[in-house]
Amino acid sequence: MASKKYDILVIGGGTGGLVLALTLAQKGFQVAILDRQTHPMPLPRGEILQPNGLKILDHLGLLNALLKTDVHLNKKVHFYQTSGTHLCTVDYSTLPAPYNYSLILLPEVLQKILLEEVDSTPNIHTHWGTSFESLTWQGTQVTGLTATQNGRTINFKCSILVGSDGAASKVRNALQLPYQAHVYKGGYVTMLVDRPQGFENDARYYLGKEQIFGAFPVSKNKIYLFYLLPTDKLAAVKKHGLQGFKTEMLSLHPEIAALFSEPLHAISSWDQTAYMRCFRVRCRSWVNHGAALLGDAAHAMNPHIAQGRNAAMDDACVLAETIEHCFRTNDFSQEALKHYEQNRRKDIKILQGLGDEMVFFWNAGAPPLVWLRDRVFKKVQQRQHLHDKLLRTVAGLQLKRFNLQDRWHAIRP
Ligand SMILES: Cc1cc2nc3c(=O)[nH]c(=O)nc-3n(C[C@H](O)[C@H](O)[C@H](O)COP(=O)(O)OP(=O)(O)OC[C@H]3O[C@@H](n4cnc5c(N)ncnc54)[C@H](O)[C@@H]3O)c2cc1C
Repeated sequence: MASKKYDILVIGGGTGGLVLALTLAQKGFQVAILDRQTHPMPLPRGEILQPNGLKILDHLGLLNALLKTDVHLNKKVHFYQTSGTHLCTVDYSTLPAPYNYSLILLPEVLQKILLEEVDSTPNIHTHWGTSFESLTWQGTQVTGLTATQNGRTINFKCSILVGSDGAASKVRNALQLPYQAHVYKGGYVTMLVDRPQGFENDARYYLGKEQIFGAFPVSKNKIYLFYLLPTDKLAAVKKHGLQGFKTEMLSLHPEIAALFSEPLHAISSWDQTAYMRCFRVRCRSWVNHGAALLGDAAHAMNPHIAQGRNAAMDDACVLAETIEHCFRTNDFSQEALKHYEQNRRKDIKILQGLGDEMVFFWNAGAPPLVWLRDRVFKKVQQRQHLHDKLLRTVAGLQLKRFNLQDRWHAIRP
């Protein structure tokens, strides 16, 4: 059977893959996207689009269209103890304009905007409902792949292949790139409810002992709720029943009960919720001869840092530059593609490290850790330089490691 030939094959049409395809198409390449799904799958969860992601969408000419959809423009994130005390407010309006806000949205809203743009770009060729199966090699060089679509086998050829197929990447395995995948103990029960009267405009977190409850506005009328639940407790909680689970959530804080008792009446079945497991992936190398990994496939990170989708977009921009250089020099080797990895790895290390520190403290149950966490939050509130450094990192604008001096300022009286 004849093979389809493209300059670049992108496996996985998530945000990372779509932004990469659009950026490469703007540079004049013939790009194909393959995705095993036939259309974006709606998830009952909201996500934060950070300033670094907003900037990329703006450069692609898509931010204005996104802002016209039903998304929530968020300026502040408030943190409270479940006992009631306000801990800290992270304020995006302190960032330099124009990207001095975040958007909270349902991922499919962004996906729709990206897909419309992809569909109107003649040099992007889409193959939905098409699953990656295996790579084809010429010696040590990747030259294409085999995929299946409705039980049919299809062969594709390319100069460069990109695996943007998520944390459980099959491309990563096929490329034989050694990696460590970590499944966090804590995942989240998520759901969408109607926005209650009295819910002010900002996102909020409530933190207790091994308890995290979040309420994020995602649109004019909907709030996304999430509740930390260790994976090994999920079966027991479900067995105990939805009503018991809702009562547990509502009892965390009087404000939660006051705001969400009524909207939660509409959640009458576990089918209206989802359980989101969280992964971290550390891959020794993100590139091989003729191939690269991008986004979660290369470096999934804990969602506390709210950067996974944004970091995938940053990857896409850097990788597109590197790929352009590969074509200019006719060099598709691992060494040529390594430039992309070298450019991105430092930032990813900072984000994954900070994400893990957040898990350690935010999810903590031991009283000394809870005390320390709450103290650090209060110091971030009091000390503007700590707030600004933390926010610029989470916002993806200026990523910096927290040094000993910062840590001292975060706990000293
Ligand atoms: C609870 C939770 C909350 C989160 N909150 C945030 C947040 O607030 N902000 C943020 O930036 N990030 C957040 N994230 C992380 C974010 O969702 C991911 O980092 C992001 O989706 C990664 O994008 P991606 O393009 O790399 O991969 P994905 O979005 O996973 O896309 C992978 C694509 O590959 C396709 N695919 C997989 N296997 C194959 C195959 N064999 N053949 C063909 N196609 C295939 C899939 O169908 C999918 O479309 C959160 C994650 C979780 C779990």
